[in-house]
Amino acid sequence: MKVIELPNFTVTIENDKVNITSHMERPVCPFCNEHSCYYNCDQSTAEFEDGSSKPESEEEVAERILTNAQIDVVESFILALVNSLHKHGNSFIFDSLKEPLSEAILTVLDAIDNN
Ligand SMILES: [Zn+2]
Repeated sequence: MKVIELPNFTVTIENDKVNITSHMERPVCPFCNEHSCYYNCDQSTAEFEDGSSKPESEEEVAERILTNAQIDVVESFILALVNSLHKHGNSFIFDSLKEPLSEAILTVLDAIDNN
């Protein structure tokens, strides 16, 4: 098994399986702890029916969803890139690709953070 440690992500290659694990801290729904929840989980809807106020504004919820979607895209891109390189038998270039890829990931995550 080959393990590629990148900033905030770990990619593993085992035979034909390429996997990615994210170590990013993601903003989550304060009720269900799911990052993709748009206040549609049972816990949050139950809370709102009694008239209590939401812990996040609509704008904050939209921002959280957008941030998480952007992180998903970064993760998907890394996975697709490694998968494609592996499929074409170019796994050996990871070692030389690691530094520029790490730099690119940090730049993109920084851009997401500043949006
Ligand atoms: Zn939720």
